[in-house]
Amino acid sequence: MRADRTHAIDVTPALSNHWESCRGCWAAIMNRITMRSIPILMYHEVAVAARPDFVRFTVTVRQFAWQMRWLARMGFGAISMDQLVGARQDPSTLPRRPVVVTFDDGFAECGRAAPPILVEHGFTATFYLVAGLLGKPSEWLERELGFRLPLMNVEAIRALQSAGMHLGSHTVTHPRLAQISQTRIRDELVCSREILEQALACRIEHLAYPFGSHDETVLKLTRDAGYVTACTTIEARSCGEDLLALRRIPVYGTDSRLDFVSRLFTARPAAALVWDGIHTLRSHFRDGRS
Ligand SMILES: [Zn+2]
Repeated sequence: MRADRTHAIDVTPALSNHWESCRGCWAAIMNRITMRSIPILMYHEVAVAARPDFVRFTVTVRQFAWQMRWLARMGFGAISMDQLVGARQDPSTLPRRPVVVTFDDGFAECGRAAPPILVEHGFTATFYLVAGLLGKPSEWLERELGFRLPLMNVEAIRALQSAGMHLGSHTVTHPRLAQISQTRIRDELVCSREILEQALACRIEHLAYPFGSHDETVLKLTRDAGYVTACTTIEARSCGEDLLALRRIPVYGTDSRLDFVSRLFTARPAAALVWDGIHTLRSHFRDGRS
């Protein structure tokens, strides 16, 4: 029987598309496997003792000292945001176990307490500062929680720089960027850079979104304002995501030592992992019965 060539289905384009799609998937999978995920730790206050109404966001000096000592003993090396960016091009520049330590808000006591502990272990960290409130009280906390904490002044920030710490912007007034006008977002991003660069004579290229508040417009304006990285409060290890939407791992004063270790590797506190396990087992047996 003669084959009717006019009705033959040419599968070449379909196969080619399929192959391209497979190759794309495979490249994405390999990229995921070979790209190292890095924990970016997010701290707020480090103090000798926590205020009763700020316990969750205050890691005591004792807790912080244990956490940094544990990281050092486990072979972790703290890297700067610039090193994190550089590692996207050349991962061989990273220490064996990289970690990024960040502090939001620039609380005065944190600025005194944390650096000596970091320096003791050869660690660096990035402090995100509220540019319009240097040396003043944290006005946004008054609005949110009804109390204020003193913020670092320029002299204290210069001491941080001398201790090998890095600086970033946390905007001018600490607003929720995704909830204000584009003009105000632009001002918060551009002016905070200018204020900090003038006061501290250094380049400011890294940002942390106050309250983690961001959306596509904020991301675009952050890029336009010249920032290289920006941290969110999305809880996960950092692994190849947009540099202007970096994920972090929060460290809370209410966490146990086990929670700290659990969060470092999984971004989840220990109890959540146990509950996840119980839930999975229950689902497994329930599905098995039905
Ligand atoms: Zn903040």
